[in-house]
Amino acid sequence: MRTTAARKRLIEKNREVHWHPEHVGQGRFGDWLENVVDWALSRSRYWGTPLPVWKCGDCGETEVIGSFEELFRKVGRPLPDDPYDRACFDPHRPFIDDDFQWPCAASDCAGTMKRVEYVIDAWFDSGAMPFAQYHYPFENRETFRARFPADFISEAVDQTRGWFYTLHVLGCLLFDSPAYRNCIVLGHVNDENGRKMSKRLGNVVEPMEVLAETGADALRWYFCVNNPEQPSRFSARLVREAAQTFLLPLWNALSFFTIYANLDGWRPGRHEIPFAERDQLDRWILLRLYRLVRETTGHLRGYSTAPAARGIEAFLEELTNWYIRRSRDRFWAPNDESGAGAQASAKESAYQTLYEVLTTLRLLIAPFVPFVAEELHRRLLSSQGLGAVSCHLESWPEPPADRADERLETAMATVLQVARNGRSARNANSIKIRQPLRSVTLVSADPELESLVEPYVDLVSEELNVHEVRWAADSSEYVSFDVVPHYPKCGPRFGRAMPAVRAALAARDGADLKRELDGSGRIAIELDGDTAYLEPNEVEVRLEERPGIAVHGDSELLVALDVDLDDDLIAEGLAREVVHRVQNRRRAADLDYADRIAVRYRTNEEVERAIEAHREWICGETLAVTFQATNGDGPDGMEDAPIEGQAFALAIEVQSR
Ligand SMILES: [Zn+2]
Repeated sequence: MRTTAARKRLIEKNREVHWHPEHVGQGRFGDWLENVVDWALSRSRYWGTPLPVWKCGDCGETEVIGSFEELFRKVGRPLPDDPYDRACFDPHRPFIDDDFQWPCAASDCAGTMKRVEYVIDAWFDSGAMPFAQYHYPFENRETFRARFPADFISEAVDQTRGWFYTLHVLGCLLFDSPAYRNCIVLGHVNDENGRKMSKRLGNVVEPMEVLAETGADALRWYFCVNNPEQPSRFSARLVREAAQTFLLPLWNALSFFTIYANLDGWRPGRHEIPFAERDQLDRWILLRLYRLVRETTGHLRGYSTAPAARGIEAFLEELTNWYIRRSRDRFWAPNDESGAGAQASAKESAYQTLYEVLTTLRLLIAPFVPFVAEELHRRLLSSQGLGAVSCHLESWPEPPADRADERLETAMATVLQVARNGRSARNANSIKIRQPLRSVTLVSADPELESLVEPYVDLVSEELNVHEVRWAADSSEYVSFDVVPHYPKCGPRFGRAMPAVRAALAARDGADLKRELDGSGRIAIELDGDTAYLEPNEVEVRLEERPGIAVHGDSELLVALDVDLDDDLIAEGLAREVVHRVQNRRRAADLDYADRIAVRYRTNEEVERAIEAHREWICGETLAVTFQATNGDGPDGMEDAPIEGQAFALAIEVQSR
């Protein structure tokens, strides 16, 4: 096949194809087309599509047969009623060779037309797929025309010289068109350490074993989120981890919703609370959701799999680690008798919001994890007699056009940053999140930030477990700065003058140096009567916490926790520890969320005082009807659950179901 004659056209038509990743189109594939060679179509094989060329052994007369009908006419036999019934006719070797011969038609030749021995290069078959699958041009002409070229195809990178190429050649030569509009080129799958899998090395990962262990959707998600266009590492462990960061939290969000909805008897389809009247947290997660829908749609329109999957994963993180956690109290709140109070509408707003989030998420994840999406569909819609037969028959979601609140999104992003910084400050100082603190001070020189975050300070205080949120502009009360020379940079420049540089910095106030660096972008020091300037990369700014303060952050936003504890705070922390231990026991006993319990406990004086002070709150949190100290020693069924080394033991008993 003289492909070299079509080289220019092959290259032109390749420019109409969108390659993912883009560089393959010009690079690997483009280079291959630039250096195209003629295609030797025949192969000396037994198995394969017989080359439809008949030749006379005597005079060399050649005929190319174009259809079964023509072939049967040549041998003077009627075409079978169903030429595709293998019992009547098999167009492969050896039948095609033995049963289909005819006398040569050349004048004065008594030879016989016999098929040449070759079969067709199997790559031709794969390249013929777009029309061969419809038996075009013999039938389905309209179907073929409507579906050619393909919207997208996908295979691994080695197919640039295989399938991608033969599709392109046949598309161009036969139809003067590329065969596909988009091509997602997959990287190769390697072992866990990035080495090529080989039987010899013994590092082959059996895909069916991974499928059996993790499920098909976990496997799909793993490849999508790790950018299928890149070579990937593959092992059961890696797939399991991907499932744990995505499918598990998704599942937890679903079960959180269904457990509470069932407890409260909440059902979809109630009078919808207008967006503007929803709780701020509800409005925020919906805005994030609509943004996610727009972004995912854009990524998928552009055939960008990994950014789409990563966006969904990031959203899920916000949903589970912020929205659900900070909304838990609204779901948990007892129902008012009338069902009309502020608490009831806050709860209804939470239900309607989380339901919209989960049902929309179900559609966004459908192309990635089809089974999990379908399960969400069944639990959220089919179980209520709602929705299509399958989520895969539903329309792609479209976010409402009229809802936007940049300020709310920006503010919440800042609140999340505060929460992260606060948690880091606690972790760095080993202060448990269950220990309440007196206050947190948010230090920022930007007055805008305070007005932005102010409406959401309740979220900050709940999340960081502090009684009070304060603002400050000057960080010097909370941290001190120590500015020292950065030796790897300064050493070569100043050589033996280094002690003098160090002394010059040490002689000045750290906060002052920091201000100079931030303000002018450098620090001036006097050295032997001259002024030398230190660039930002020549100094190290060390941040040191003032005593009793735990900080995390930067000069734009510093979160400073007051970590001094008094007796009241310690008692409150102990009460939370007690609740935590009762909840653990409830879980271990596999109690229903709504089960009321009686609690007996034994402890020391300090914990007892904490329980006394917070008894009502503890009972509310744990659904305890009674919470009684027992002081006997004997076998009373109590299990030890010490609190920070302090004695505590408890036993729970279900009161009512
Ligand atoms: Zn002949």
